[in-house]
Amino acid sequence: MQCPQCQHDNRESARFCEACGTALVLPCPTCGTQPRPGAAFCDACGTRLREPLPAPSTAPPAPPRHRNSTTRGAARHRAWRA
Ligand SMILES: [Zn+2]
Ligand SMILES: [Zn+2]
Repeated sequence: MQCPQCQHDNRESARFCEACGTALVLPCPTCGTQPRPGAAFCDACGTRLREPLPAPSTAPPAPPRHRNSTTRGAARHRAWRA
């Protein structure tokens, strides 16, 4: 059984990678199905089984909007008080 994280070749009965400790087979917390090793989602009910791997290229960088809104909010606040 190969570790999805470090590709270490564990025993077939292994539930955790002996090299990095990654859980190889986690039962679905929702329906109890045993997914295949390395599965990110339960194939029976769609529950996420592990944290998604970081994918920096899928999402475009968010514009620094909050700095603008903070300034606007402060100005509005000042106007309200005056
Ligand atoms: Zn591993
Ligand atoms: Zn499930």
